[in-house]
Amino acid sequence: MEFAGAAHILIAETNPSQTTGDSPLEILHDVFGYPAFRGPQQAIVEHVTGGGDALVLMPTGGGKSLCYQIPAIARQRAGYGFTLVISPLIALMHDQVGALHEAGVSAAFLNSTLTSEEASDVERRLMRGEITLLYAAPERVTSLRFLALLDSIHERGQLSLFAIDEAHCVSQWGHDFRPEYRGLTVLHERFASVPRIALTATADDLTRADILERLQLQEAQAFVSSFDRPNIRYTIVEKRESTQQLLRFIQREHAGDAGIVYCQSRRKVEDIAQTLVEAGIDALPYHAGLDSKLRQRHQDRFLREEGVVMVATIAFGMGIDKPDVRFVAHLDMPKNIEGYYQETGRAGRDGLPAYAWMGYGLQDVVNQRRMIDESPAAEEFKQGLRGKLDALLGLAEATDCRRVRLLAYFGEQLGDGQPKYSCKNCDNCLNPPDIWDGTDAARKLLSTIYRVQQTSGMHFGAGHLMDIVRGKVTEKVTQYDHTSLSTFGIGADFSEIQLRGVLRQLIALGAVAVDAQAFNTLHLTDKSRAVLRGEVAVQLRESVSTPAERKSRSKSGAGPGAIKAPIALDGAALERYAALKAWRAEVAREHNLPAYVIFHDATLAAIAKRAPQSLEDLQGISGMGTKKLEAYADAVLKVMMQGE
Ligand code: ADP
Ligand code: ZN
Repeated sequence: MEFAGAAHILIAETNPSQTTGDSPLEILHDVFGYPAFRGPQQAIVEHVTGGGDALVLMPTGGGKSLCYQIPAIARQRAGYGFTLVISPLIALMHDQVGALHEAGVSAAFLNSTLTSEEASDVERRLMRGEITLLYAAPERVTSLRFLALLDSIHERGQLSLFAIDEAHCVSQWGHDFRPEYRGLTVLHERFASVPRIALTATADDLTRADILERLQLQEAQAFVSSFDRPNIRYTIVEKRESTQQLLRFIQREHAGDAGIVYCQSRRKVEDIAQTLVEAGIDALPYHAGLDSKLRQRHQDRFLREEGVVMVATIAFGMGIDKPDVRFVAHLDMPKNIEGYYQETGRAGRDGLPAYAWMGYGLQDVVNQRRMIDESPAAEEFKQGLRGKLDALLGLAEATDCRRVRLLAYFGEQLGDGQPKYSCKNCDNCLNPPDIWDGTDAARKLLSTIYRVQQTSGMHFGAGHLMDIVRGKVTEKVTQYDHTSLSTFGIGADFSEIQLRGVLRQLIALGAVAVDAQAFNTLHLTDKSRAVLRGEVAVQLRESVSTPAERKSRSKSGAGPGAIKAPIALDGAALERYAALKAWRAEVAREHNLPAYVIFHDATLAAIAKRAPQSLEDLQGISGMGTKKLEAYADAVLKVMMQGE
């Protein structure tokens, strides 16, 4: 490895300003058509191109791919041979390789979807040095046959780099553990001189430490990016009729947009998908219970067509690099902040405005707590899970900046820790909620639980207890003679919504336990006393409908189905944009690739705005690399002319 790195640096030093365009920045311009590196990309690319090992922690959508693709191209041009990319995502390799072909990079994949002739053909091309990036799944890479092939290529000095994507799969702490990843240590044992770069969007310390140890990357340089995704607007609303809230959110804010809706159960996925379809939204279900062919077809439609909404369990999403997912909605609360962040991170990879919306309610808190309690895991492990759930509950109940809390969870501080920091792009910062002190209401609820239990020896559920506090004479109240309780009606001035909020917080705080085995009845806990004594303040957000529910944003009067551009375009430009999109759809179909692989929306919008008349006019548009210019300039100019 030292030798390879040193040799390369030598080349770079003796030809400091070669005109061959082989520097990382030139490759970024020429091949990918991007004007500048993002965040730490440049440092990573230079380190790896020079032969160093690297661990890259970057949020989803941060731009990890270029971190190994550019070194792969640079090192290939410098004579080091090919880069092996290890990825667990067989279903996406075809499109990943297709995207590289579109950019004029020689790439291929080896996986079980190829016939044996096709696979042999790839191997032959590899031996001949015709491939720059080869994608393969870990089980293929660690097979004896493939290792022998690598041996012979390595002997000729043509094995340039290992890129281990989704590296958290090696860790049991990550959420996508793949035992095959453990076998990847063979790479560094067998090919110690070949540099390695491991990449992941999972940032917690436990997983990170595990990756370093399991892949023996202790000596590698770690590059940790900011995990902030400023273009994503975080919003967490209180659930009322959550399906209707979701419908309104999609119809008002995201008509015609591609998005993902996460639900906890397969059954709910099916139900919600159907409801959305009935409301005229192009929605599809996705969960592990569907036939694998159907699942693949739905994934393809989501990737290839525009404006498809995927309703899914968390089985969906890893490696989905569709850049124009405009929203990610959670109808059920995820298990922890890692999961939430990974899932919401799938929105807005293109850097354009995107939305992360979550509906959250009492039932979510109850369900998540119950799942932990009922799991067969060891108590210590359960404690860990509870801690993680509490952090998420804290986020959901927060009355201050959501982004500050999210990033704090990943050990990052926004705005120098100033108390009133505003990110200007989360619900709490955009519309600071009114806060009310729920301590009194909390004590009234707790005393009611206590009294009821004391007088009748029975436990009751949330609805009944709230009725007692509010002094509502229901059948059940009469039946149990609960009007005679000293706490009957002590909270008559609170609304049911307010009490619900208080109860949610009490459960979140652990001051009330829910017994799932006994009809979700409520019980006091060790922690109840502190609240009863007024030692713990219960701060709540005033329950108001969110602005998203109150008023429609109705972008430039566009109704459902109308064309929306990612940047402001006047009428004529908008028409050009629509024409370009139609043209792109045709090309994508011909090439059997998703449209965004041909050009991102942002690139088409930039073209539409500029209204190019010549090849020169097209140069310098972000996303327009040399190969794409060559392949598509004529067609694009023709589309421009037709519009005149
Ligand atoms: P990740 O793998 O980290 O989730 P990707 O590598 O898929 O992210 O990149 C996300 C999106 O950002 C892609 O569409 C990619 O083309 C784009 N991108 C990455 N780096 C840059 C850059 N320097 N300039 C412009 N766009 C970029
Ligand atoms: Zn904020």
